[in-house]
Amino acid sequence: MGCLIIGIVIGFLVCLQVAPESTEGVFILFGILIAIVLFSKRHDYGKKRNIILSTQGIRFSEGETFYKPATIPWNELGEVTHLKKVLKNETTVDVYNILELKKTGILEHAKPSVIHYCNDFGRQVLNSTTTFTAERAVELIEKLRDAGSEKARIQILKDNNKGKNPEEVKKRLRNVPWKHRLVRYCPTCKVIFVVDGRKEQSEQRCHSCGSNEIYEDEDEYLKTLDKGE
Ligand SMILES: [Zn+2]
Repeated sequence: MGCLIIGIVIGFLVCLQVAPESTEGVFILFGILIAIVLFSKRHDYGKKRNIILSTQGIRFSEGETFYKPATIPWNELGEVTHLKKVLKNETTVDVYNILELKKTGILEHAKPSVIHYCNDFGRQVLNSTTTFTAERAVELIEKLRDAGSEKARIQILKDNNKGKNPEEVKKRLRNVPWKHRLVRYCPTCKVIFVVDGRKEQSEQRCHSCGSNEIYEDEDEYLKTLDKGE
């Protein structure tokens, strides 16, 4: 739980790259490459391990110690599996999320590509407050895989980058007096952030996904789950 504190509104850079006319002609069919770049806040923080979701396919780095770049075009992507590994130490519980990507047309026993996604946290989109937990990442990857056209994929990528610019969020919160700053938790994004307490409750939203179903903290959220049963 304590590690979630780190998640409080961290500014990150560069996302939703709209890079027209890239020379890599193989992948850019229509001259547009819209990409969501997911990068981890901890564990595998680093350039090498960025995951780039574009209209053409998914790009990532394979390997544990040695990385090699890999790309799977959407039409060659098969099953996507999310594995959760829990390592219990005496004092801490570490959760690792792993994504396994299978290619279509490859024999059943062929090894899937492995992405070490993140610890219990999600990954954040560059230049956005949007956060993807491993579950949401799989959802997004499957959506992109199953989309029928380039246009549909552009729409999906746009829809999934709802987060505000981290710099803007920071700037706006700077003008909020301390006593009005409220810490909130979004169960969808699994992030903690600060909202302006002077705003109507319905206007207090998660910076990452825009949802106003937010809670004081994770415990508060878990309590509401208990009630529902
Ligand atoms: Zn959210």
